[in-house]
Amino acid sequence: METVLSISNISKRYGKIQAVNDLSLDVKKGQVFGILGPNGSGKTTTLSIILELIKSNSGSFQWFGKAPSNESRKRIGSVIESPNFFPYLNPVINLKIVADIKDLDYTDIDRVLKLTGLYDRRKSRFKTFSFGMKQRLAVASALLGNPDVLILDEPTNGLDPQGIAHIRELILLIAGQGTTIIIASHLLDEVQKICSHVAVLNKGRKLFDGKVSEVLAISDSFELSARNMEALTQAVKSYPGFQSMTPGDEKIQVYFNEVIRPDELNQFFFQQGISLTHLSERKRSLEQHFLELLHDNA
Ligand code: ATP
Repeated sequence: METVLSISNISKRYGKIQAVNDLSLDVKKGQVFGILGPNGSGKTTTLSIILELIKSNSGSFQWFGKAPSNESRKRIGSVIESPNFFPYLNPVINLKIVADIKDLDYTDIDRVLKLTGLYDRRKSRFKTFSFGMKQRLAVASALLGNPDVLILDEPTNGLDPQGIAHIRELILLIAGQGTTIIIASHLLDEVQKICSHVAVLNKGRKLFDGKVSEVLAISDSFELSARNMEALTQAVKSYPGFQSMTPGDEKIQVYFNEVIRPDELNQFFFQQGISLTHLSERKRSLEQHFLELLHDNA
């Protein structure tokens, strides 16, 4: 699958603060990629670097397999700051001004207004818009020219629940049309609901990345028992991904550091001549995983 963005070993320091620390990640075409981390973890700094608003101290990045260029910039739309438009002008005129700045014609304006659900309000002044509508207009503006990638920094910050729902639906709608989306968020729930992939940042460092569905499927541990507990305890240590174990006379709790399928685990013991009398799996939610990662790296 085509790599849209490739970040290699980027670091950015502000005086004593290491805002981004040796960050590498790849975003592929069609992904909804979440950059998840608490406040101050380096999300905005990362987005600002890949949008060339600031320079990194070291490292590099490529858009669409090449160094950033005028051509690649035209393929990227972004909403990094809170929406800022002329208050006394309606969205059509505001978008015409944006189109002029971006050197685009006006033919796309109706499309982006319809897509963001603002077409019916196209004659209202910007200042009469709710905060949610303002945010959607910012997205509409970023979508002018139909970019291949849309970058959003904390798109639901400050919105009420209805506004949040609107923006999330909109993001999924845009993703459904094939646009690659990169979202910075401190909200797990948001990433779980709308992202296909996630990179977790803490203190500027990437702790983890992968498919959201796989992160959700990570099994923390299995509880196992067999008639011959001693054989079980020995055998489990040789299972690929084995991490540690809490021994017990009747049951053992086994921790793995990779995704384990219970049927394969069961088969493995069977092949070793061990019949399990009990197997139960404890799944870890992304939230637990995220909190553990932050805790471990505090
Ligand atoms: P938030 O969600 O709070 O915006 P973030 O994950 O986007 O957080 P950044 O805004 O990238 O994090 O900030 C990362 C670190 O760099 C923070 O410690 C922040 O204080 C620091 N930082 C960011 N910009 C500057 C700047 N212009 N000058 C000095 N320090 C900065």
